Amino acid sequence: MSFKDLKISKPILRAVAEAGYDNPTLVQEKTIPLVLDKKDVIVSAQTGTGKTAAFALPILQTLLNQQDAPKKGKTIKALIVSPTRELAIQIEDNFKTYSTYTNLRTTVVYGGTSIEPQKDVLKKGVDILIATPGRLLDLHKQDIINLDYVETLVLDEADLMLDMGFIDDVRKIERLCTKEKQILLFSATIPHKVEQLANSILNLPERVEVAQNSSTSKNVAQVLYYVPKRNKIELCLHLLRNTIKGNIIIFRRTKFGVDKLEKTLLKNGYKADSIHGDKSQTARQDALKRFKKGEVNILIATDVAARGIDITDLDAVVNFDLPNVPETYVHRIGRTARAGNTGIAYSFCSADEKDYIKTIQQLIQLQLDIIEDHPYPLDPKAKPIIHKSNKTGSKHKKGRKSVASKKKKKRWY
Ligand code: AMP
Repeated sequence: MSFKDLKISKPILRAVAEAGYDNPTLVQEKTIPLVLDKKDVIVSAQTGTGKTAAFALPILQTLLNQQDAPKKGKTIKALIVSPTRELAIQIEDNFKTYSTYTNLRTTVVYGGTSIEPQKDVLKKGVDILIATPGRLLDLHKQDIINLDYVETLVLDEADLMLDMGFIDDVRKIERLCTKEKQILLFSATIPHKVEQLANSILNLPERVEVAQNSSTSKNVAQVLYYVPKRNKIELCLHLLRNTIKGNIIIFRRTKFGVDKLEKTLLKNGYKADSIHGDKSQTARQDALKRFKKGEVNILIATDVAARGIDITDLDAVVNFDLPNVPETYVHRIGRTARAGNTGIAYSFCSADEKDYIKTIQQLIQLQLDIIEDHPYPLDPKAKPIIHKSNKTGSKHKKGRKSVASKKKKKRWY
């Protein structure tokens, strides 16, 4: 199938061809006709599948089709809500690329940066707005944003959005748009809470599922090192010296862990940078740019900061800390061995993480290759530290509260 078969017209086809896309990806093939048909759609697909173009292209096409209609000045007709700033910026980049040969205008607004320039752009009028929830609501409250003309609302990375506690904001945003709008919900996984949200706001949604493209990839070697927690940094340095080469992302669970590892690697002469939720927007953008340009070859990240970001050509992913949610492992290693390349995923497991390995292996239906020959083996009798279970679930579950409490709250990602 070609983009032309999907009823994408010339100005967009030209831009898509210049972006180097020959044919639509599976998620695009399945989603584009439904979006053009004005259906509500739930799409489960991860970054890397081409999901951004799966909503961006038909949205642009729909707006292009309407351009003969009398113009009332530009109003926001498509709103894309994204949980993280990096992702929002990336989505804007994509829209701008695909709309190069149209006069459709796109902008992005997100927190952590000055609001005034964003207001100026909005006042001039845009057709497509990409936004993180908090800044969007702020601007709406200040009457800078009018959502009365939104025809398509996209909730991107819905599972992450809910994990980050944006549920109330998302519901509020949905209510601020007109009732008749089309809603497209994209999520890497569809846990119960995403299903609940979808049931309550989508209208007879169609479903598109694109199989996870990572753990099943035969091109990723997945190796496991049992190592005492206190020796993880030494093991990491040992592997960087002897084994791991190329462009690498190292995942840690907390921002504190990310900072600590970054300092150690820099001290040891490695070219590393990092991203996590407590870094300023500019610092995060700079780190990504430096990594993409090849000025540094090691990026240390928390899952939330790295989620959804399009970083390709990775040679290795290091799971310095194992994720407690097994799907996160799949997201992480899905970043390597894209497009037929080979890659390696290294996982470090300390005594208290053994249960995580069990659930990961159950999910991916695969036993990781255990590497025993290394200088910091874990005593097999080492007792795990028992964590108290948290029956109330995520502390972010109830959504973000007041601005004051938000300011006080220290984010772990
Ligand atoms: P996404 O899943 O939206 O983050 O896209 C992942 C990557 O695939 C991005 O670098 C896109 O530019 C690229 N991409 C999207 N659609 C296509 C396509 N049809 N052909 C080739 N590359 C694509």
